[in-house]
Amino acid sequence: MHDKGFETICIHGGHSEESNRAHITPVYASSTFTFDSTEHAADVFLEKKDGYIYSRWGNPTISEVERKVAMMEAYGIKNSAGEPLLLKALLHSSGMSAITTMLLSNIKAGEKIITHYSLYGGTQELLDKILPDLGIEAVIVDFHNIEAVEETIKADDAISLMYIETPANPTLQCIDLNELSTLGKSYGLTVCADNTFATPYLQQPFKYDVDYVMHSTTKFLNGHGNAIGGIVIGKDIEKMNTIVTKKHRLLGGNSNAFDAFLLNNGLRTFCLRMERHCSNAQKIAEYLNAHEAIEKVNYLGLPSHPDHNTAMGQMKNGGAIMSFELKGGYEAGKEFTDKLKLCVNAVSVGTADTLVSHPASTTHVGVKHKDRIKFGITNGLIRMSVGIETVEDLIADIDQALEGYKSKPIYNGLLL
Ligand SMILES: *Cc1c(COP(=O)(O)O)cnc(C)c1O
Repeated sequence: MHDKGFETICIHGGHSEESNRAHITPVYASSTFTFDSTEHAADVFLEKKDGYIYSRWGNPTISEVERKVAMMEAYGIKNSAGEPLLLKALLHSSGMSAITTMLLSNIKAGEKIITHYSLYGGTQELLDKILPDLGIEAVIVDFHNIEAVEETIKADDAISLMYIETPANPTLQCIDLNELSTLGKSYGLTVCADNTFATPYLQQPFKYDVDYVMHSTTKFLNGHGNAIGGIVIGKDIEKMNTIVTKKHRLLGGNSNAFDAFLLNNGLRTFCLRMERHCSNAQKIAEYLNAHEAIEKVNYLGLPSHPDHNTAMGQMKNGGAIMSFELKGGYEAGKEFTDKLKLCVNAVSVGTADTLVSHPASTTHVGVKHKDRIKFGITNGLIRMSVGIETVEDLIADIDQALEGYKSKPIYNGLLL
């Protein structure tokens, strides 16, 4: 039998027959599970028999989606023995919770994390405000400069973990997974990657031998914007089943059956959604690139992006997230956002509808101008997570919001 395709895994992966033969695994809204006898209970506790005990420790609706996401990240990858890679996933209440479990399972007081600029804001704050109190420090280096990364690792024995996020907010910086992971592993570091923006549809960090992948499942994996969630996936199954599971259970970042159900439901259409998200994004990026009102478009699918080649080497296409700068600066950014009628003004990414935000007046309104600029958040910068609507409708909406700028572009022979 040939290996199942990725789309098939997104639909059927991880499913096991349910005792009442429900077609779709139901929401197991039950905090605890019963035993036939004390002996049965003992067997389940000792893991001699499969079974559930208490939903902070595991739940059937949650297990199904954990198995599915593990299969998606492992898809088509072989381990060092040439066998299909096996991964283990643990679903959490949020992306932040998954990242916390992974970090606290792999690093302790006195050790350091090597990482780069432009991490997700919450992750950056975790490194800045929580971990130092536990005796864990972060060292920040430009991950585009592999020599500098190596020098830094060589010079500091305390560095034990490499934390990668690619592509990253808001300018879609992309760094080389293969180069970085190979270097990190050669110095014995634990290497992990936040794969939220790319998803396993576009990029699989386990191909490059990383140890862990984390996701905010809130974004493209759920895809409908109706549940916060996160997942950590690891290839050291023994460690996942012991140390990481223990941290997950004791830190209390468990997901719940309803959110797991929504995630599983979203994953059934994941591939179709991603195809449309990405093809819409490519068309919108090309349209914006030709528009007079736009100073610059940051989209990995455009050859003008400085990391285009790196991205195309490790991602299937340019993805569904972009940012662009309006020539008119802060006021133009606000005006544009307010004029949109179809695109939704909201933070977050990865929902079926197109989300737009103007960081300078919203998420980063409290950040000093010079600090914002350092992270590429210029006054007129707009971030867009492209949805799966009819692309002509999205372009028409953007177009009317850019009105006032003369000389309309001709896009694909279509005068808008
Ligand atoms: C949203 C996000 C997170 C945090 O996830 P939550 O589900 O909001 O806790 C982490 N990393 C990236 C790249 C994200 O986009």
